[in-house]
Amino acid sequence: MSLRIVLLGPPGAGKGTQAERLVQHLKIPRIVTGDLLRAAVKNKTDLGQKAQTYMNRGELVPDELVVALIREQLSQLNSQRGFILDGFPRNIQQASALEQLTEIDLALLIDLPREEVIRRLSARRMCERCERIYNLVYQPPKREGICDACQGLLVQRSDDKPDVVAKRYDIQYNQDAQPLVESYRKRSVLVTIDGEGTIEEVFERILRVIRSYK
Ligand SMILES: [Zn+2]
Repeated sequence: MSLRIVLLGPPGAGKGTQAERLVQHLKIPRIVTGDLLRAAVKNKTDLGQKAQTYMNRGELVPDELVVALIREQLSQLNSQRGFILDGFPRNIQQASALEQLTEIDLALLIDLPREEVIRRLSARRMCERCERIYNLVYQPPKREGICDACQGLLVQRSDDKPDVVAKRYDIQYNQDAQPLVESYRKRSVLVTIDGEGTIEEVFERILRVIRSYK
């Protein structure tokens, strides 16, 4: 069985964690485009140098270049068994660019209601002394409001206030994600997973979907 998977879902839905589990379970590679890009720039590969010129100008790296990085990675992995793409595509333009490279068997959307995304993302706290980051939902401090490392006070940064988080979610995620999700739905490869509950519960739901492909 070869499964070519793209992972979709809002920030805070635990995509990264679930992707790691899937990698171990399916023994297929995970392709994280942000990591690919950083590695290419660091190793000064041809594509990395091209990407660097955009970054130096403060511009976004073009989708075609990211897809070229993915192509390179796929050929190196020689992955007959499929892959999990994490972090790409984020919008419908990127999905079209990806389509030129490979077909997708499964677009897995780990979904969360907007209110839950905002609750999870606005649960971030930072130690005002050592700047260590906590999350009251995932990684709470041992003592409420106090940093485990230095006993400093935990504060909420203005970026993490619920109204700011909500605005960022609506503008950066929701606007791009809706058409993307629709396009995969039209291609009949979309499966939506309920992202609420524990990591285990969500992973079990994902496994149920994966089993139906075997
Ligand atoms: Zn601290």
